[in-house]
Amino acid sequence: MKQEKIILTGDRPTGKLHIGHYVGSLKRRVELQNSGLYDKIFIFEADGQALTDNIDNPEKVRQNVIEVALDYLACGIDPSKSTIFIQSQIPELCELTFYFMDLVTVSRLQRNPTVKTEIQMRNFETSIPVGFFTYPISQAADITAFKATTVPVGEDQEPMLEQAREIVRRFNYIYGETLVEPDILLPDNTACLRLPGTDGKAKMSKSLGNCIYLSDPADEVEKKIRSMYTDPDHLRVSDPGKVEGNTVFTYLDAFSRPEHFSRYLPDYANLDELKAHYRRGGLGDVKVKKFLSAVMQEELEPIRQRRKEFEKDIPAVYDMLRQGCEVAREAAAQTLSEVRRAMKINYFEDEALIAEQAARFKTQA
Ligand code: ATP
Ligand code: MG
Repeated sequence: MKQEKIILTGDRPTGKLHIGHYVGSLKRRVELQNSGLYDKIFIFEADGQALTDNIDNPEKVRQNVIEVALDYLACGIDPSKSTIFIQSQIPELCELTFYFMDLVTVSRLQRNPTVKTEIQMRNFETSIPVGFFTYPISQAADITAFKATTVPVGEDQEPMLEQAREIVRRFNYIYGETLVEPDILLPDNTACLRLPGTDGKAKMSKSLGNCIYLSDPADEVEKKIRSMYTDPDHLRVSDPGKVEGNTVFTYLDAFSRPEHFSRYLPDYANLDELKAHYRRGGLGDVKVKKFLSAVMQEELEPIRQRRKEFEKDIPAVYDMLRQGCEVAREAAAQTLSEVRRAMKINYFEDEALIAEQAARFKTQA
């Protein structure tokens, strides 16, 4: 049988989605969805994973489930082409996580660089919740339960994919060829691998409060861009400026296209020319920020408009999620039945087993 091409990817409902999610993963998903090259696409809200570091704040997770669903729809995820579901509604994922726990060592988990950084960020060093520490295992279950071949995510997810691949190899080695090894699909544009925050910090992240949200109103986006981190040594317009590590230019790397220049900044043919002028000196931050603002608004305005449309019928969005959960559950249940058979824990499905045991005990008697 030809292997199906299956996409799985998701987000934690810990806040509305931001432009880092958009360039890191969301935009790509929509392109892949519309390419017609994939047999199945699963997109999910990892509410169980969100609870691993928000255990005392279930209301936050509950409120954000609908926000993230609206962001998906606003960006162009189409429920007739992609299955959108919620992690906690698929108990098979917990079951698979439980089996995978035996295939991973504590020291292997401790080596995961993304989890290491996240533990520091959350001041978890002295008391890490076990669920948080082991979330890469549960993420491997999310991916493999759907036999995903392709996982489009940002760079911070690389260690998770490596962990998932190791688990699949180990599982298949012990129990026979059952699960599919997933491939990571990173953004082509290096600025999109890990979009920095508006404060210049390494990663735009809901938990750090340095985000431009997809649903921010136009004036809010403008305000955030105006106060964005640039080159701290670029004090006067005439001073030469640094482009590397300058967040405004990183965002331009991620979002601007040559046609934006003819539209909003015709003195320059492209981003390279603008960068050259900034480096030479004589180009002020305000002008560059105004240009970024125009580029961002052009990209975000249609998303905001579509979101407003979907906001008019919230019960329909919940219905869509419920149906997505049903489809997803069926797919995961199929994999789990194969997993149980491979692991030899499918006692009641295996008539040969019962007959064999009956015969064994008879000859012993
Ligand atoms: P949290 O702070 O709660 O972990 P987050 O902002 O890191 O939230 P996630 O839900 O963990 O968001 O990530 C969802 C997806 O978005 C992942 O594929 C991740 O790689 C991608 N992503 C998140 N932040 C960025 C970013 N700044 N740049 C590029 N991709 C990102
Ligand atoms: Mg994250």
